[in-house]
Amino acid sequence: MTFSIHGLAVARGIAIGRAVLMASSRVDVAHYFIEPVQIEDEIARVRAGRDAVVEEIHRLQLTIAGMGPKEAPHELSALLDVHLMLLEDEELIGGVKHWISDRLYNAEWALTTQLEVISRQFDDMEDDYLRGRKADLEQVAERILRYMKGVASPVAPPTASRRKTQQDLLLDDGMDVPLVMIAHDLSPADMLQFKQSVFAGFVTDVGGRNSHTAIVARSMDIPAVVGARSSSNLVRQDDWVIIDGDAGVMIVDPSPIILAEYGFKQRQGELERGRLSRLRHTPALTLDGKKIELLANIELPEDAPGALKAGAVGVGLFRSEFLFMGRRGNLPDEEEQYLAYRKAVEGMEGLPVTIRTVDVGADKPLDDSMRDEAHLNPALGLRAIRWSLADPAMFLTQLRAILRAAAHGQVNMLIPMLAHASEIRQTVSLIDFARAELDNRGVAYGPIKLGAMIEIPAAALTLKIFLKYFDFLSIGTNDLIQYTLAIDRADESVAHLYDPLHPAVLRLVAETIAECDAQGKGVSVCGEMAGDTTLTRLLLGLGLRSFSMHPAQILAVKQEVLRADTARLVPWARQLLDAEDPAAFLAG
Ligand code: PEP
Ligand code: MG
Repeated sequence: MTFSIHGLAVARGIAIGRAVLMASSRVDVAHYFIEPVQIEDEIARVRAGRDAVVEEIHRLQLTIAGMGPKEAPHELSALLDVHLMLLEDEELIGGVKHWISDRLYNAEWALTTQLEVISRQFDDMEDDYLRGRKADLEQVAERILRYMKGVASPVAPPTASRRKTQQDLLLDDGMDVPLVMIAHDLSPADMLQFKQSVFAGFVTDVGGRNSHTAIVARSMDIPAVVGARSSSNLVRQDDWVIIDGDAGVMIVDPSPIILAEYGFKQRQGELERGRLSRLRHTPALTLDGKKIELLANIELPEDAPGALKAGAVGVGLFRSEFLFMGRRGNLPDEEEQYLAYRKAVEGMEGLPVTIRTVDVGADKPLDDSMRDEAHLNPALGLRAIRWSLADPAMFLTQLRAILRAAAHGQVNMLIPMLAHASEIRQTVSLIDFARAELDNRGVAYGPIKLGAMIEIPAAALTLKIFLKYFDFLSIGTNDLIQYTLAIDRADESVAHLYDPLHPAVLRLVAETIAECDAQGKGVSVCGEMAGDTTLTRLLLGLGLRSFSMHPAQILAVKQEVLRADTARLVPWARQLLDAEDPAAFLAG
């Protein structure tokens, strides 16, 4: 039966495919297709994992057999029996074999998929005791996954260049349909892993439109919906689904008529993209001849070629924190960071690259252990520059790496989440210290321009101090909205109040642009507002000349720029600033 689930539109376009439900396993799992000749090896890996866990449980049973009832209560032995029974149930291994042989999933992916299928059966059981055994099943599957993690796969996950496109999926490997991912939640680090994977779209139960998970999805340029509440409970493994990333809707089990309609929309979208691609080499000039700078936001150095291909004239925001995530505390050293920044600089072929110093915390945990730390208000806590200043050795390592990369091209350094003059002074003196350290070591480094993010209202209200210390400013509207309106950007339950057009937000943006203009300092917007085509005219009218956004949005924004006349937009934007309901004014 066809039904639809509504959420928040995150990344545009239509995806049609079969659902892959992400099991909520705490073990990181890679998802990739194997070659048919590798089927037997992958099945053998799961069997070996299962056998190892069975053996481990047998050993444990022997140990507790020699203990008294106090040290090893009877329930423990009964629990181990249940685990053994689950492990020996053919449905587990039989199902895993199916996903590997028929779908060519890698072993870990096949195991988590089958885990999800069996978990659903447990959920449907009437008997409380049996329903409760789902947790045991998850535990044994997790143990197998952990064992498999220690045993390298003979099949390497595909590199980005080997990543299969949707088109490939339609043609080879016996795979005749694209796959879309449905998950309860995904962290930005999970999303990064999926950047190299096979999914044609995704939906999550939780998350706001400007959560970092959503931002990474947008950078992948695949249709996505977040905040779709109980989607991961309502959809079953392998269901046909349509993701409408423009409307923020997922349609489950669509009828042939609906499928045909969305197939048509999908082709229309592709045609539109084809049309836009012709603008790639067109200079971004308004009708009245104003030159507009369209820059790219990137997460990894490997994103640089995509930014160039989209016609970006530089990188306006390299979110360096993605180099630090998912590494279990093993943070990148100076050399690794230097090579990554240098790769981005060289990848941009002489165009400027703005590297933002690490911004972890809030909804960007370094890894799951940080996510589990019980901070009451992580968005107001030790995040971004606060985190960097709390660990000067770590910060200096990053500063040296950025300064060294600046020897290879035009580098701007951008500091996130500053609010206090004391933080600015500490940052500036640490940068000087990093230079002195490199001098002492005799290591080459280059000149940088230094910029600050304006993303806390306190910063927007004390611009004079910022303009004294910094060469340029970049307005982080994602956080500026969050902190001005006291709305958690990652919480879908208050997403309706997260409003870029709130008069208070617009005033802070307008005044920052005007003040920078008056002082002859560069200013850009690098939050999601910059890539939103419905806001391009407004930002131009407020005097903005530099926009930084995901590469996938650049050509659509350029189209808006080409149609704009700033002479007419300036008085219109002024009126909008005074309007009680700017959204209605904009639409009217
Ligand atoms: C912002 O806050 O607008 C921004 C660009 O930074 P991030 O989204 O990484 O917090
Ligand atoms: Mg921010």
